[in-house]
Amino acid sequence: MKLTNQTMALQLSIVVPLYNEDESLRELDKWIKEVAQKENLSYEVIYVNDGSNDRSWEVIESLAQENPNVRAISFSRNYGKSAALFAGFDMAEGEVVITMDADLQDSPEEIPSLRKMIVEENYDLVSGWKRKRYDPISKTLPSKLFNGVASWLSGIKLHDFNCGLKAYKKDVVKNIEVYGEMHRYIPILAREAGFYNIGEKVVQHQARKYGVTKFGLNRFINGFLDLLSIHFMTKFGKKPMHFFGALGSVMFFVGVLSALYVGGSKLWYVFQNIPAERVTSNPYFYLSLGAILLGTQLFLAGFLGELISRNSTERNFYKISKMIREKE
Ligand code: UDP
Ligand code: MG
Repeated sequence: MKLTNQTMALQLSIVVPLYNEDESLRELDKWIKEVAQKENLSYEVIYVNDGSNDRSWEVIESLAQENPNVRAISFSRNYGKSAALFAGFDMAEGEVVITMDADLQDSPEEIPSLRKMIVEENYDLVSGWKRKRYDPISKTLPSKLFNGVASWLSGIKLHDFNCGLKAYKKDVVKNIEVYGEMHRYIPILAREAGFYNIGEKVVQHQARKYGVTKFGLNRFINGFLDLLSIHFMTKFGKKPMHFFGALGSVMFFVGVLSALYVGGSKLWYVFQNIPAERVTSNPYFYLSLGAILLGTQLFLAGFLGELISRNSTERNFYKISKMIREKE
């Protein structure tokens, strides 16, 4: 029996988060449709309207009337790109999921080759790399630095973590939780979920045609803070005592050593009948005071962290991918 497109699994889900992009949507939709038809791919486009206050939703409604492949959700307010991606991932049914920005900076022409890398080369995730970028230098320069640090801290060799154009195996998007501003670090989240086969593809990039960027300069400050927290969470999230406890113990030990030195030298002077300086004028006194206090605090922080994670409902949540004769 020859399978029709309806009975065959859906090949592609294209998730498009958008916030005030009414001018671009029609053009984008048409372009995606042309590419999918040319390549004979079954697809759905999922528009996630992130609380736009322009005419974006009206445009999507009219697109959905003309194009049966359009699905959409609308948030009641602006929750941010990560939240929009998360909601889109939840809805996606295609075997391969592609994300792209709505502002026409990412080209739909890249979709077929990104998909090929997932299907034929067995990548779990392929991230776009805007090698030649059409953005102001105020954005490209900090971005270079940011990608360098992210790549170094995470050990994932990518040049462009934050590229909106990415392709995933369906399994990947169903197993990661993008929240806050974490859309910048999806490759790291994916790796944490056990998907190691992460690749990169140079993609075309255009200057923004309509509208303005939705992220200001604070993207870099927030980006770095998120990077630090994701780094700590993945390293010590499940074992806070290993970080705070170790640091606290070292501090405490240094404190005790220097206290012994202060006390010991004072006693020695006294026994030798040499006039000794006051303990409080010895610099080591302050070192020991500070180190012992800090050490106890750090240790306590680790202990509290352990108590909190012990109470977390996720403490024993592991993603299991295979099982033989699972228990009834
Ligand atoms: N976006 C979103 N919610 C937001 C901010 C942005 O859904 O709160 C969307 C935006 O409409 C676009 C994509 O995320 O489709 C990337 O945003 P933008 O083009 O402003 O980022 P840039 O290209 O400047 O990094
Ligand atoms: Mg953009």
